[in-house]
Amino acid sequence: MKISHEFVQFRGIMQSEVQMQTISIPRRGGGAIKSWADILGVSTNVCIILFFYLFEAFYVMPQFLGLFGQLVHFLVTTWIVYNILENLRLCATTLSTVDSLPPEMQQPMKGEEHLWHFCKICQRNVPPRSWHCNTCDACILKRDHHCNFVGNCVGHNNQRYFIWFSFYAAIGSGVALFDNFMLAHKYGVGFFDLVTANLIIFNAYMNPGRQDLVIFYRIVIVLAVNIFAVLFPAILFCTQVATVRKNSVMHDYSDRTYDLGFGSNLALILGSRRLWTCLAPTIKSPLPHNGTRWKSKRAV
Ligand SMILES: [Zn+2]
Ligand SMILES: [Zn+2]
Repeated sequence: MKISHEFVQFRGIMQSEVQMQTISIPRRGGGAIKSWADILGVSTNVCIILFFYLFEAFYVMPQFLGLFGQLVHFLVTTWIVYNILENLRLCATTLSTVDSLPPEMQQPMKGEEHLWHFCKICQRNVPPRSWHCNTCDACILKRDHHCNFVGNCVGHNNQRYFIWFSFYAAIGSGVALFDNFMLAHKYGVGFFDLVTANLIIFNAYMNPGRQDLVIFYRIVIVLAVNIFAVLFPAILFCTQVATVRKNSVMHDYSDRTYDLGFGSNLALILGSRRLWTCLAPTIKSPLPHNGTRWKSKRAV
């Protein structure tokens, strides 16, 4: 069996000329936060990140480390939090909409017209792998999914930032979880107490003024939020690794139509510097194309 590369014939491709002639619907610009779910998601996200950053630095660590240890911990977590927040900001503000392309790129090149497909909502032809997002109210180049926690669609131009945002969010929450387990141990809170929180709340209610129970209760809440803050981005990151491996998208991650091999897939998603982009979101790493031209792997 021989493998060849060629531009893919996309599913459900060109619709009739009648559709092309209907009236265009005015489009909203991308980039800004687009829904209440986005506002809630991004606000919750930033609040949780900042809470754990400050809580560990100024409440937990002084109970366990000397000044030098606290300084080292502070510098490491500051670097992690910088990577989380800057990747989050760039993911939220970098557009992957078809509208963001230069006007001449919003038309298929000669001979590639059959690869583009018609979006009924935008009332226009859009490139392969572009799909409409109802929240963004736009077609997104290589749309992965809409993420309420970054307030934007993850697509061709900002997937790099989303991958490293979820990676650093999981690492940062993991460091906080380690710190908070030390705190829990100091105050005699066991892992099992997480599932008996109701009993603790009841005891605190029945015994007002018992300060130790209040601390107990607070630690249980912090641990529960912290475990969620580790698991959620970790699952997102693992899902992204699966899509990078196959150059697929989240809603169809097992699709291997565009899988050109792990190295090429990395360059298509992270840019020319590939894994070096993990070091900082400011590292320049141009993508190999503008998101309109996709090679597929097809067995013949
Ligand atoms: Zn559309
Ligand atoms: Zn969207």
